[in-house]
Amino acid sequence: MIVGGVGGGMSAAARARRLSEDAEIVVLDRGEHVSFAGCGLPYHVGGEVPEDDLLVQTPASLQASLALDVRPRHDVVGLDPATRTLTVRTASGEERIAYDALLLSPGARAVRPPVPGLDSPRVRTLRTVADATALRSAVDAGARRAVVLGAGFIGLEAAEALASQGLDVTVVETAGHPLPPLEPELGALVADELRRLGVTVRTGVAATAVAHGADHDVVALADGTRVDADVVVLAVGVRPDTDVVAAAGIRVERGAIVVDERGRTSAEGIWAVGDATVATDAVTGERRPVALAGPAARAGRLVADQILRPATARPLPTALATAVVRVGDLTAATTGANRAALTRAGVDHRTVHLHPAHHVGWFPGAEQIHLVVHVAAADGRVLGAQAVGRAGVDKRIDVLATAIRAGFTADDLVDLDLAYAPPFGAAKDPVNLAGMVAANVLDGTLRLWYPEDVDDALATALVLDVRSGAEFAAGHLPGSLLVPHTELRDRLDEVVAAAAGRPVRVLCGSGVRSHIAHRVLEQAGLDSASLSGGMLTLRAAL
Ligand code: FAD
Repeated sequence: MIVGGVGGGMSAAARARRLSEDAEIVVLDRGEHVSFAGCGLPYHVGGEVPEDDLLVQTPASLQASLALDVRPRHDVVGLDPATRTLTVRTASGEERIAYDALLLSPGARAVRPPVPGLDSPRVRTLRTVADATALRSAVDAGARRAVVLGAGFIGLEAAEALASQGLDVTVVETAGHPLPPLEPELGALVADELRRLGVTVRTGVAATAVAHGADHDVVALADGTRVDADVVVLAVGVRPDTDVVAAAGIRVERGAIVVDERGRTSAEGIWAVGDATVATDAVTGERRPVALAGPAARAGRLVADQILRPATARPLPTALATAVVRVGDLTAATTGANRAALTRAGVDHRTVHLHPAHHVGWFPGAEQIHLVVHVAAADGRVLGAQAVGRAGVDKRIDVLATAIRAGFTADDLVDLDLAYAPPFGAAKDPVNLAGMVAANVLDGTLRLWYPEDVDDALATALVLDVRSGAEFAAGHLPGSLLVPHTELRDRLDEVVAAAAGRPVRVLCGSGVRSHIAHRVLEQAGLDSASLSGGMLTLRAAL
């Protein structure tokens, strides 16, 4: 018996059938549709994917190909582990259904914060096909203004979709930048892209109320401003949909079902997967739900093995939470731990920023990838990575996700033998380069300083700008000394005199030239460090 017929649940059902022609497999879902492409909903709103294409399977197709007994509009309202029965509500009343083994994959619901007015019919979440259809209908009916509450992955996909349909979109986010899991210096690039798409970005502020008007709503923000909206998308996060599970006495942690490495819950004969469960972070060990389709689908498959052939079944993996999103012409992606998670977990780490081209710069169409990689200070293990750019981002993050899963170090990244021809990469791929920079930092060849050190550097050090005169003229830190890196060896005495015993903090455009300068200065006996990611990172971080 499977509760939840979309991500994890349907994956488990299909695997279960492939393992056993004898099992009676029943899938219950309260929704109208099963096995739909939840991840495609924003693209339906934006007119890129027709509704029919979201409906990947139907109960009839699942019966035909996999002999599954799929029952939509079956709401599980009670669960009794002692008698192994479910209470199920349908249009024709309640029934009790017995099970031998039960897999729970009830997913998550949209968080509804205690903001007055969210009961307006113009406020929609984006979780079901009906939600997407309603938003699409609002667009077709001539909605002109949209407010999206929450700038997470779903919020931004909704914002882009609505903006692409000509709506005047405002995104409201309480965190300081869109896509809060991204490092702030990358989030700033996403904010710029949203603005380029014509989206108004309101970060660091919460919505406090939605006032219902005759022909539109007005969203009030904590800073006193008000935004008119014909449609409001509520996308401030999700919470596990586990009220029935908790009421049955099954152990939950902050609402999420606790499972062991075999997917077993605290109740005999009941397993759980997906957005509704607690996952263990592969890098920090932190316990939290990970609301992503890949982990849910793969866990569903593994738990089917646990139920039907436990002797050879593999345990569930820990979570890397690798994620990717398109925002306009940009791709933003993340894997493993970010700086905040590493700091929370007390993991001593080194961070490197790079801005390499996605393929060799001299081949037409090269685009910069803005890459942040964290490695363990102790042993160089790769702990996390994020990237933003117009091309090649997904490939690099997937390689880095693989590297983290494999326990690779910075040196291993240097040694990765990755495909190269000019239209695709470089002899030193961005992933190799990240390994090289991190390895240099770990063995002391490169010493970095960071945007957060800038005030201290300006107060106590000589800030040495090694870019060209033209770049310097276009904007530089106050009080910094310009010595282009090509002139540094000849003008070393000038730098030593200007430093007057103070440390030298070097910067350039992206961190490449300042690395060269740092090596010159350090070998000349100066206390030197190179700005991580250069002005590109500094501008985005400030
Ligand atoms: P779900 O797929 O949500 O399935 C749970 C099902 O259980 C639901 O159909 C629900 O109706 C049913 N259910 C719950 N309680 C009961 C009950 N008591 N009785 C009967 N039925 C019940 N992830 C990505 O990795 N990449 C993406 O690009 C991405 N985009 C997304 C875009 C949107 C708009 C949304 C909403 C999600 C997106 N996700 C994405 C997340 C992904 O869809 C989920 O992580 C995944 O579907 C989780 O699978 P699940 O089985 O845990 O839950």
